[in-house]
Amino acid sequence: MTRLGPRGMLEWFRARGGSAPPAAPHTAAPPHHDPNGGFRNPWPAPPRETGGFWRWQRERRRKQLPPNPSPDALPRSEPRIVHPRAAADALHITCVGHATFLIQIGGLNLLTDPQWSRRASPLQFAGPLRFTPPGVAWDQLPPVDAVLISHNHYDHLDAGTVRRLRRTGGEAVRWFTPLGYRSWFRRRGVHNVTELDWWQEATLDAPEGPLRVVAVPCQHWTSRTPWDRRRQLWAAWAVITPAGPSALFVGDTGYFPALHEIRERLGTFDALLLPIGAYEPRWFMRPAHMNPEEAVRAYQDLGCAGTMIGTHWGTWRLTDEDPLEPPDRTRAAWVAAGLHPQRLWIPAHGETRMIARREEG
Ligand code: ZN
Ligand code: ZN
Repeated sequence: MTRLGPRGMLEWFRARGGSAPPAAPHTAAPPHHDPNGGFRNPWPAPPRETGGFWRWQRERRRKQLPPNPSPDALPRSEPRIVHPRAAADALHITCVGHATFLIQIGGLNLLTDPQWSRRASPLQFAGPLRFTPPGVAWDQLPPVDAVLISHNHYDHLDAGTVRRLRRTGGEAVRWFTPLGYRSWFRRRGVHNVTELDWWQEATLDAPEGPLRVVAVPCQHWTSRTPWDRRRQLWAAWAVITPAGPSALFVGDTGYFPALHEIRERLGTFDALLLPIGAYEPRWFMRPAHMNPEEAVRAYQDLGCAGTMIGTHWGTWRLTDEDPLEPPDRTRAAWVAAGLHPQRLWIPAHGETRMIARREEG
């Protein structure tokens, strides 16, 4: 493909409209498709330092990290899930923990990045351990209609939970992933997978008419082994019901300059699940993880409408900040930005809320 400069990439994003099919053979590949294979973030961004991971690990060993919270330092709440499904015009969201949420929307039950395991790790005996059990016990789950996967990191895509969902839901569960996941799921006996590129969309049959499920850009990366960096795509997900509620789920992202395009193409959302944790040290984490101030800025770029739901904190230690810091910092940034206090929700594990329809501005 022709190499586009940073300006060209932004132009490309501006020019590309609607639910784009895969690029026609005569057009240039989209700039987030790396010509050398795999994917990349197409926006101008500070280059990541070579060997940065090892520098982070070295520095981490030398400093005293804030302690892990005890389970009682993390608030919990009894879920109030609507069984088996909520009304088509209602939007109920329940926090399981980290990036795992049950979204009851359009009369269907959707799970985001389902992770019920003790560790966010490829190994049973090593890797980050949960601070507190999942906010929803497995047997409290209603029937799951669809699952949205944001990317392949272990805190978002967990093989044990995928197998569990396959056993309980079978082919009735529809899986939505960014590009490059079909064979991973097939190896685990899951075949009902819809892979989408950024800005592509699919529909999900629902009682009151089909839901639109749109893969939207975010700034992150993927890897499950040392050999597969950026071979699978990462994405955020928009879910839009025909005449009712809408939700945006962002699993992991750095703050990036094209967030406003999501609003320009798809409008605003009633619920915006945005990550507020896993951000220190900034010199290393900034390209891949927003801090609380950036998450609030992202909410503003996305149109300042609807409820922001602060996610991706308080479940595993992945980075260096105090694991209890993200909510306070997010609330402070929210107040400093002059935003409506009732439109910020940082849920406890297990907490359910019925989300109000948005008002603009
Ligand atoms: Zn990630
Ligand atoms: Zn993550």
